[in-house]
Amino acid sequence: MNPLPPVRPAVLASPDYPFSPITAPIKLDQNESFADFPDELKGLALERLRQLPWHRYTDLNAEALCEAMARHEGWSPEGTVVTTGSNVLIALLIQLSALGGGRVVTVKPNFALYGLDAELLGATLTEVPLRDDTSIDIDAVIAALGTSPGPAPQGVIYLPRPHAPTGSLCELDELERLAQASGHGWLLVIDEAYHHFTEHDARELARRHPHVVLLRTLSKAWGLAGLRMGYALASDGVARQLRKLVPPFGVSVLQTVCAQVALEHPGYVKERVAQTLRERERLFTALQGHPSWRPLPSHANFLLVRTPDAAQAHAQLLAGGVLVRRQDRLHGLQGCFRVTVGTVEENDAFLRAAGLMA
Ligand SMILES: *Cc1c(COP(=O)(O)O)cnc(C)c1O
Repeated sequence: MNPLPPVRPAVLASPDYPFSPITAPIKLDQNESFADFPDELKGLALERLRQLPWHRYTDLNAEALCEAMARHEGWSPEGTVVTTGSNVLIALLIQLSALGGGRVVTVKPNFALYGLDAELLGATLTEVPLRDDTSIDIDAVIAALGTSPGPAPQGVIYLPRPHAPTGSLCELDELERLAQASGHGWLLVIDEAYHHFTEHDARELARRHPHVVLLRTLSKAWGLAGLRMGYALASDGVARQLRKLVPPFGVSVLQTVCAQVALEHPGYVKERVAQTLRERERLFTALQGHPSWRPLPSHANFLLVRTPDAAQAHAQLLAGGVLVRRQDRLHGLQGCFRVTVGTVEENDAFLRAAGLMA
């Protein structure tokens, strides 16, 4: 028998990422955009790719792409850090501030990666429960930070806004209070994967507080989940340190070119977001007519639905060809599943499978 190679106990003890693929004709389980990247933009990107050298390394830190991102976001290029998906940044920010003994503070239920990465990287994880109405109890988060504002880094706070997987939205003045309470020794990371589906984002807050970092992605509203592209908007000082942890030449020529083409033609995103909001409203209203299911108000491109039995609801929808994501194993989400807002036809199929449409 070969002995196992040396693997840290935290890795051995850690579960696999909680996702098992199921195929169904209508896929409303991963909060992807309901439509693909526009075909003419794909053509443009492929044409440009053909003309670029593939045998050369890309920019060390994707400088040209960072500049284009920064221009799009009204941010400084020096404060913009691009990686292959924002999930990469979740681990890197823990490495930056909480590796081996630092703290990761977040809420529960939550996006699974914050807790998984915290455990893998040997940080101490604190999860503050949401209130019963799924709002974030900012005072409880502040209390969880503790009282000793030491000079040494204490760790990272992770909050998604809008919140995943409930879709609730933390008020900006509440976040401001948290930012003021966490300025000594904490990074406050606001994961804005779904910011397109709300009115106000947290850029203004982040400009005023150098320890606030925003995470953004092309995986949701931009319709580019398969491209793997995410970025952080941070203060120049934090970004400079974070960049040291990003693998050199990590963003491929393919990713760079496609992202640049998207940023040059951002108009399609706005139309899609408008359609998503209309369809979200339609699904929400229809679900309110269900005899036993209850949708939660959402500020994202998905709805969380509470049912008497998530396994039964999931199976019923799957029998109608529609795949949703069970969330009932998460803290406080007994009976819940999450459904992504799809195309009009996909949403009709969902409503039919739910018995809400003939
Ligand atoms: C989808 C999602 C992301 C995006 O991850 P990528 O790695 O950029 O695809 C980040 N955070 C949350 C909460 C998400 O739901």
